[in-house]
Amino acid sequence: MSTQELYQQVILDHNRKPRNFHKIEPCSHKAEGFNPLCGDHLWVYLDLDDEKVIVNASFEGSGCAISKSSASMMTAAIKGKTKNEAQVMCSEFQKLLTGKLKPDNDAHSLGKLKIFSGIWQFPSRVKCAALCWHAMDGALCAANANTTE
Ligand code: ZN
Repeated sequence: MSTQELYQQVILDHNRKPRNFHKIEPCSHKAEGFNPLCGDHLWVYLDLDDEKVIVNASFEGSGCAISKSSASMMTAAIKGKTKNEAQVMCSEFQKLLTGKLKPDNDAHSLGKLKIFSGIWQFPSRVKCAALCWHAMDGALCAANANTTE
């Protein structure tokens, strides 16, 4: 199977059955992501233990197959990671999306997320794939979210 075929299969699978597709209440951190170019609109929820370890991660919202599958894979990938590890993955993922990180040559901690490597050839899709990561990063940087609403 080519990387492109694998990519399409994984995207379709996560779009059909998104993982961690629900709200976490209460959660310690959350953030909204909106991509006006495509209409993707997501919320990312994180629950951190003592501001260090991401014990739970989820998302909700609507968007295209790429934004949803990216969020589905991200939430699965960052669960159990420390805040620092998640932020490293976030910057590696940005480099992957822009073609600066070559997953077969450069060291990285992205695991299965490397299937997004071909996306830099489609600039309009890069924002879709990056949306949930920007939201996650924003949620981590924000002071404790207001969980009482
Ligand atoms: Zn999109």
